[in-house]
Amino acid sequence: MSLRFAILGAGMSGVLTAIKLREAGFDDFTIYEKADRLGGTWRENTYPGIACDVPSHLYSYSFEPNPEWSHRFSPGSEIQAYFEGVARRRGVLPRIRFGAEVTRGTFTGGRWRLETKDGRRDEADVVIAATGVLHHPKLPDIEGLDTFAGALFHSARWDHAVQLEGRRVGIVGTGSTAVQITSAIVERVAKLSLFQRTAQWIMPQANPAYSEAERAEFRRHPERLDQLHAELGQLFAAFASGLVDANSPQMQAIEAACRVNLEQNVHDPVLREKLRPSYRAACKRLVMSPDFYDAIQKPSAEVVTEGIERVEPAGVRTRDGRLHELDVLVLATGFRVDRFMRPMQVTGRDGLELETAWKQRPSAYLSISIPGFPNLFMLNGPNGPVGNFSLIEVAELQLGYILQLVERLRSGRAGEISPSEEATQRFEAERTEAARHTIWGSGCRSWYLDDRGVPASWPWTFDRFRAEMSAPKLEAYELS
Ligand SMILES: Cc1cc2nc3c(=O)[nH]c(=O)nc-3n(C[C@H](O)[C@H](O)[C@H](O)COP(=O)(O)OP(=O)(O)OC[C@H]3O[C@@H](n4cnc5c(N)ncnc54)[C@H](O)[C@@H]3O)c2cc1C
Repeated sequence: MSLRFAILGAGMSGVLTAIKLREAGFDDFTIYEKADRLGGTWRENTYPGIACDVPSHLYSYSFEPNPEWSHRFSPGSEIQAYFEGVARRRGVLPRIRFGAEVTRGTFTGGRWRLETKDGRRDEADVVIAATGVLHHPKLPDIEGLDTFAGALFHSARWDHAVQLEGRRVGIVGTGSTAVQITSAIVERVAKLSLFQRTAQWIMPQANPAYSEAERAEFRRHPERLDQLHAELGQLFAAFASGLVDANSPQMQAIEAACRVNLEQNVHDPVLREKLRPSYRAACKRLVMSPDFYDAIQKPSAEVVTEGIERVEPAGVRTRDGRLHELDVLVLATGFRVDRFMRPMQVTGRDGLELETAWKQRPSAYLSISIPGFPNLFMLNGPNGPVGNFSLIEVAELQLGYILQLVERLRSGRAGEISPSEEATQRFEAERTEAARHTIWGSGCRSWYLDDRGVPASWPWTFDRFRAEMSAPKLEAYELS
């Protein structure tokens, strides 16, 4: 049976889907991308200092090793160029419909009917939602934000027209993004004020450049890149397995490294205490940086721990009454991680609305599919592995699983596939219980936590994830 596919989103996951569908012999598909360029995260985040925090030779498609990575953790612009290069070489570009935001999807008569913002329509047998997790910027609820007279923007909407040289810059937030920005701009600005609600553990992580000789060696011996990918994968799987047991030796080693970094590299005892977190390392997403502590100890930098009272035209007023005068205010305040394919309106079987199914919170069987929404599959969907994994590897494994289900549609052994309510509820109950024992549930506020305070992530080892993705358990599905 010939199947038509709609892929929603042309980020890392959407490009991957197009390549793998073709390899599997499916050629009838369109990728819908609301922006005018592919790349998702790496198109949108162009702030100074942006780089991946998973080594580049792991944060690459397994089938497209890249000898040219400049650094162990390469800058965002290189990552964007990498995805664009892969898409071009693999013939994905002509299949992307740019400027096409899918606003509605309705399952009726055994097919998905899709509508884009500009009123175009399409039909597909299978929809693969590759719409991203860290995609919808989260703005803080601070009084007076709109009264600021200087330049104000979210880190994912960096305004490159704004000069930083010699200006007074405030950064709200202390996650990986804020840390990267701080290190990148501290020398350029007159004053940098980092508004910190929660201190972060900083894992000292060097970021050496690959020399031309090393890159030439990778070019000559591509098998070394495959080997490196596999080795780094094993290393990260071991690290990831440590995260799901708060008392694991890996967590203790990470905690010790972060503690030594703080004790040895922050010299002023007052600043050191300001920067000392009150929770366990890796409870929040672990921040890696070779130079944040150097940067924050520069004379032009200040860590402001007093809470923000409001924003005024001249700057930020903290609760102690002090006005921090600023020319530029950057909101490094993260993303709304519970949106997924929304605000798209999704209607499944018998008129079931996604908003209703996800009324309490987003959930999905194995993060991939939702009861009542046949032939709709998500990559990097709700409660999937997010904690310091390579999301490329996650998406590759998920797609391999999805293609096995799709194979049943192609062969006619099933017409509609969706997980059963019972399997989904059982999975969610087990996942929730296990999540409480992970490092993310060890007592901190973070974006991993859902509205109940339960970590919204894969709570088992990476090996278990890989095993689960290797073959669908068909008894968990309704196949009609
Ligand atoms: C600053 C930052 C650093 C990161 N660093 C790492 C890292 O080091 N390692 C790691 O593994 N991960 C990292 N991530 C996570 C990163 O998001 C993923 O690795 C990956 O890029 C996600 O790709 P994606 O295609 O799933 O989603 P996205 O990159 O978010 O792409 C989704 C695409 O879908 C489009 N879209 C959404 N809705 C619609 C719609 N309705 N219609 C049409 N198009 C739509 C969007 O415009 C976008 O292009 C980082 C994220 C951020 C924000």
